[in-house]
Amino acid sequence: MTSPGVTLVEVGPRDGFQGIGPLIPTQNKITFLQRLSAAGLREIEIGSYVSAKALPQMADTPELLAACTAMPDVSPRVLVPSLKHALRALEDGVTFPTFVLSVSESHNRNNVKRHPDESVGEYLQIVETLPDNADLRLDLSTCFDCPFEGRVDEDAVLRLLEKLVPAKPGAEICLCDTTGKAEPQQVERLFSMARTTFPEVDRWAVHAHDTYGLGLANVYAAYRSGVRIVDASFAGLGGCPFAPGATGNVATEDVVWMFNRMGISTGVDLDGLIPVACDGAGIPGGQSGGRVRAAMAGRTATL
Ligand code: ZN
Repeated sequence: MTSPGVTLVEVGPRDGFQGIGPLIPTQNKITFLQRLSAAGLREIEIGSYVSAKALPQMADTPELLAACTAMPDVSPRVLVPSLKHALRALEDGVTFPTFVLSVSESHNRNNVKRHPDESVGEYLQIVETLPDNADLRLDLSTCFDCPFEGRVDEDAVLRLLEKLVPAKPGAEICLCDTTGKAEPQQVERLFSMARTTFPEVDRWAVHAHDTYGLGLANVYAAYRSGVRIVDASFAGLGGCPFAPGATGNVATEDVVWMFNRMGISTGVDLDGLIPVACDGAGIPGGQSGGRVRAAMAGRTATL
């Protein structure tokens, strides 16, 4: 990736929508994708291939994927938690699957019903199966903190990466703060260690949740340690109905605002994004976050 600035990966349509109970009509999702794209967001995680029973909100991901063929500016990404779902996604024409596994065993068992080593085995098979025209991303959940096991040791992350990186050093690798309990020094330390240990990896990404208000600080910490790919969710959508107090990813508009103020390009038009984020915050059953939306909407109102 040669962009001199930061590449944002908009994960709202997946991480933000998946926890929303009332089904969002597919056409509304398509309209959001079109509007996010028009605001300059190109890399969009549009959904996931998972069991429709487990996550009914994600069941229309294949339809969204098909709709993206009419959006030339969108590079749709899809989350896959297993080899089986990855194969289904590839068959449907997904060209940027994101495989997810957790560093901590209990979270991996809870999330994808497997020991992390089983997930490693499936990742290695996905790498072998991946068509030449497809890119690949690896999401490592609970890199900093696990809801069951507490703070996660840096060595545990590096040990897991040892098993994964050699299979495809060119993959994009995202270290995720699943619970939002990471703090900036921890983020900077882990990314610095990872970058030093695996110099062959040139695409590191950060996935920060804002549960404790440190989402943006953690994004900045990752940036300081050389990370140039940042996940964010428009309107800060997210949260989990089963985890009271949990909030969404750091809000896309907050991330754009910060980098704009720092003079670092994201390719996103903040004025174009704000109305989309305001509408996102109004999705029935959704839980929004972030600050910039209210600040800028207020500014517009007083003009
Ligand atoms: Zn997340």
